[in-house]
Amino acid sequence: MKLVWFRNDLRVRDNPALFNAAQPQQGVTAVVTLTPDQWRQHDDAPARLAFWWDNLKLLADELADYHIPLQVLSLTDYASCGPALLTLAQSLNVDSLHFNREWPLHELQRDETVISLFQSQGIDCDAQACGDLIIAPQQLRTGQGQPFKVFTPFARRWRTFLLQHYPSLIPRPAVQPAVGVVLQPLPPCPFDADYRRDLWPAGEEAAAQRLQHFLQQREARYAERRDFPAQPATSTLSPWLTCGVLSPRQCLLALQQGYQDDSWLMGSWLNELIWREFYRHLIVDYPLISRGEPFRPEVERRIQWQNDPRLFEAWCQGETGFDLVDAAMKQLLRTGWMHNRLRMLSAAFLTKLLQVDWRLGEQFFMRHLIDGDFASNRGGWQWSASVGADAAPYFRIFNPHLQQQKFDAERLFIQRWLPQGRLRPEPVIDYSATRKIVLERYKNASS
Ligand SMILES: Cc1cc2nc3c(=O)[nH]c(=O)nc-3n(C[C@H](O)[C@H](O)[C@H](O)COP(=O)(O)OP(=O)(O)OC[C@H]3O[C@@H](n4cnc5c(N)ncnc54)[C@H](O)[C@@H]3O)c2cc1C
Repeated sequence: MKLVWFRNDLRVRDNPALFNAAQPQQGVTAVVTLTPDQWRQHDDAPARLAFWWDNLKLLADELADYHIPLQVLSLTDYASCGPALLTLAQSLNVDSLHFNREWPLHELQRDETVISLFQSQGIDCDAQACGDLIIAPQQLRTGQGQPFKVFTPFARRWRTFLLQHYPSLIPRPAVQPAVGVVLQPLPPCPFDADYRRDLWPAGEEAAAQRLQHFLQQREARYAERRDFPAQPATSTLSPWLTCGVLSPRQCLLALQQGYQDDSWLMGSWLNELIWREFYRHLIVDYPLISRGEPFRPEVERRIQWQNDPRLFEAWCQGETGFDLVDAAMKQLLRTGWMHNRLRMLSAAFLTKLLQVDWRLGEQFFMRHLIDGDFASNRGGWQWSASVGADAAPYFRIFNPHLQQQKFDAERLFIQRWLPQGRLRPEPVIDYSATRKIVLERYKNASS
């Protein structure tokens, strides 16, 4: 009997750990570990957890077709995973445990502990599979053998490596013998949470349809339209990618299939998938990022966070009086998702103009995003605050008025999210005066 441990890889298609476990057709049991204390500590949004659970339910149904029962272990935190998994494995007489790697520090530590525990009991662990990246961490190095710190050369190397090691989809798992398999219904959803199911339908099928729709209807004009939040221009696939209901490899191969030539390789959409890979590679090479330290501490040392609770609260509620920032925050609060251009704008607004520590903004995003993803969120926040890898210099400050004129000139997005006819709050800061103060502070600290 093999045991396959699902985490953020809730899919049957293109799942290397599941495929490997099912190869010998000697029987497979699937397991998930519920660790609510840990997830609370990680600020996982209720919407993200509820979406994850809905996907898990559909996965359980799908696995049943392969005669693979799914067991749910209700635990507390990551420390409780090893002993509980071992007890289950021993009761089922399992000879190997299979799972796909995850990259944030706590997840790496959890997995190392589980591997050691299983090995100490003579049970194999197949823990090398990489399911959520196209190119695994530590494969790409500079000419000097160092990890990349800058995106453009990383992306160049990534593309070259891709062509040398072109991936293919992992087949679906083999159907297991039906004899002795007892399928139990999943317990009721343990999370007291809801989300916009009309926007984010669960399941691999829904993800595949959205991917196809994007590639057929939007991808050709992605570069031209992706920065305009009122337009349906981006894929909105991030929630499925984050929970691993869809893999980036599936995205890549579907993208490539739509082209007669090689131009897809230099396309803007692939570039965004490479950003996703960049942030994952970074947290593996620089574990300090996972510990809450900035990638560029020398920049952060020059910044004096003001952390004014009144300003922070206004930002959280979308009541700063800056229309595009407020509309963006309302989009986040009501849908669990925010357009990328607006994530950049609202994060830069909070950190640079309101002078609030990026960690507070990062936490707030994490608590509300249905696609909350440690590597991308931390990377995005550090980048926006200019303390991250390849970030713009601190003194480059987005002008929220210009951003609005440029990306929502007709106020279509603003009108969608800000109630009409209600008095808008006065701007919480005077943009030009604040900009001057901030730059002065920064100059004084750096001299
Ligand atoms: C401050 C900040 C916080 C962010 N937090 C998250 C987060 O928690 N989870 C998350 O998935 N993304 C995060 N992003 C990245 C990006 O905003 C979202 O991935 C994107 O908006 C999702 O929309 P989409 O699926 O339509 O993307 P598309 O434009 O269709 O791109 C396709 C996929 O590429 C990946 N991607 C796109 N842009 C980026 C990027 N800049 N960095 C990393 N991956 C990217 C996503 O997986 C996305 O689904 C953050 C960005 C910023 C600036």
